[in-house]
Amino acid sequence: MEIGFIGLGVMGGAMAGHLAAAGHRVRGFDLAPGAAEARGLTAAASAAEAARGAEIVFTMLPHGGAVRAVVEESLAEATSPGALLVDCSSAEPWLTLETAALLGARGVGMVDAPVSGAGWGAEAAELVFMCGGGAEDMARIAPLLDLMGKQTFHVGPLGAGHAMKTINNVITAMAVVSTTEAMLIGKAYGLVPSVMADVLNVSTGQSFWTTERLHQDVLNRKFEDGFKLELMLKDVRIANRLGRDQGLDLPMLSLGEKLWEQADRDLGPARAVTEMVRWCETRIGGELRD
Ligand code: NAD
Repeated sequence: MEIGFIGLGVMGGAMAGHLAAAGHRVRGFDLAPGAAEARGLTAAASAAEAARGAEIVFTMLPHGGAVRAVVEESLAEATSPGALLVDCSSAEPWLTLETAALLGARGVGMVDAPVSGAGWGAEAAELVFMCGGGAEDMARIAPLLDLMGKQTFHVGPLGAGHAMKTINNVITAMAVVSTTEAMLIGKAYGLVPSVMADVLNVSTGQSFWTTERLHQDVLNRKFEDGFKLELMLKDVRIANRLGRDQGLDLPMLSLGEKLWEQADRDLGPARAVTEMVRWCETRIGGELRD
């Protein structure tokens, strides 16, 4: 199949590589030079060139504003009627609907198919897709998603996948803060962080954060997570805006948003999400090291 893939960063590069390895003709484009070649893709000189003639175009960009801009500037013209845009970015559901309207005017469909699983899930083709869109479009892309992931959920109409993704991530974001604060209480009391992590991992305080990040990236003080802190802040903001738009009062998530915003301001761009732990440590006092 002819596929265009736009956005070849931590996630998109690995995902597009799986499609190419399965024999699809993938033209990749990223603002970063060399990203397509590094994954064995045909390098396109622009987003439009990646999309031209493609049956399916994937986007894996930082946020929904970037997706809409690429569609407005390039894809609305470069895609052919009958083509389908599959946006795997973690994006704002309300922008997804705007982007789909731009494409729809040209007879191009759209599915939102954000993922969970982090960089290693992308590398291992073990992502979980949570999708919004029509049943026919879902059936059309299912074999491609299977090449990149271990499970696909169709959670509702267009935008529902992006809503589901922000719900997943805001839960993780709150777990980062609450786990750090609680473990710093334990550290101050005299408990050993690695022992606390072992207990949590088989107790009810267990989460993705305790099983996959504490030993691997926090307690060893590596702080090298491929997921950027500013992307997590974006996800927290999307969740809060979605809730506020529905008239919900969200005391804890609103406070969480302020904390993530302050950390992002203090730490600056391109910091790993695990740096949030160090930021909390500085505010609270104490360090999660044995
Ligand atoms: P990343 O920063 O590594 O990759 C984004 C890529 O998009 C970069 O290579 C950048 O050069 C490229 N880009 C930006 N604007 C572009 C444009 N106009 N045209 C072409 N390329 C452009 O980010 P990532 O970690 O791969 O995340 C991508 C998306 O996936 C985000 O929405 C993120 O929230 C989501 N996500 C990330 C993870 C993770 O663990 N990294 C997990 C799940 C979901």
